[in-house]
Amino acid sequence: MKRLNILLADTWEEAKRMPFPKTEDGSSAVLFCSDGPLTACQERILGGIKALQEKGQYDLLVFSGSAADMFAVRTAARCGGSALTMAQIGKADDQTVTAQRGAFSYNLRAVFEMTKKPVCISAEPAKADCCGLPDSLLREDVSGTDEAFRSVTAETRGTENPLLDASFVLIAGRGIGSAEGFGRIEHTAQALGGAAGATRPVASDGWADFQQVIGISGKQISPDVCLVFAASGTMPFMMGIEKSGTIIAVNRDADASIFKACDIGVVADWQDVLEKIEDRSLK
Ligand SMILES: Cc1cc2nc3c(=O)[nH]c(=O)nc-3n(C[C@H](O)[C@H](O)[C@H](O)COP(=O)(O)OP(=O)(O)OC[C@H]3O[C@@H](n4cnc5c(N)ncnc54)[C@H](O)[C@@H]3O)c2cc1C
Repeated sequence: MKRLNILLADTWEEAKRMPFPKTEDGSSAVLFCSDGPLTACQERILGGIKALQEKGQYDLLVFSGSAADMFAVRTAARCGGSALTMAQIGKADDQTVTAQRGAFSYNLRAVFEMTKKPVCISAEPAKADCCGLPDSLLREDVSGTDEAFRSVTAETRGTENPLLDASFVLIAGRGIGSAEGFGRIEHTAQALGGAAGATRPVASDGWADFQQVIGISGKQISPDVCLVFAASGTMPFMMGIEKSGTIIAVNRDADASIFKACDIGVVADWQDVLEKIEDRSLK
């Protein structure tokens, strides 16, 4: 399988610091390096990568560095191949590339067998498999393409999530029925010094943010007290709260499976219970 390693760096200094996947003898490497965000000249870079792929008939393109995920996916679309992001490459024979990556918020490792070439992978290299820039690297300099991109400022979002540190978490399930319902739950959780979470359908319906989803595809939390309103207690959700100190569930269905896995179960309408909490604690 013919492999081309593609290193993407916004600056030459950055390129020199980056881990670069070790390559087998005979595989090629190319560096795209600019003096500003590469994404600002992505059309030119994509055109360059496609031309290299066609000329060299590479089967496997491995991307690392700046915006590697985006370049891998877009290259696969342009070249009629397949893409996988943030992956570790395993075996590659003439027909198939095997790679693995985290799935469901990195709680599981999924193994992919990719056959549609060129296979475009953005690398999540294991440290042992990295080295500095190969001596043989061909430097493809795309600087000076577009003055405008130099004024682009990067926006960074905080990564802290109050759900991970809260000692009290109030979680809304689909039975809360609306965005207003979730708003009330969020207000009460915050007023009590805690944080609000949601089951996946609550976020899918647009009532809560996906950052608030609890479960195997969301956050795994471990508060002292976890109060769950109107959730049935499915396995993917329960995996997110199983490390909680005390789990209290409120559901109007006495047969809901959450009652088998909680410490305290209350068969009631969630609104009645919330009103009682508001009356006693917030007034
Ligand atoms: C691969 C995969 C990954 C998944 N990952 C997650 C995940 O990470 N997190 C997650 O949450 N889900 C996940 N899911 C979805 C999961 O399978 C369930 O669909 C989901 O957890 C159900 O959410 P729920 O309990 O809110 O809704 P439902 O199952 O619909 O339950 C609603 C509950 O509300 C009760 N209720 C209704 N009205 C009231 C009321 N007025 N008062 C009191 N109770 C009321 C009902 O009796 C019912 O028990 C995943 C699914 C798959 C296939």
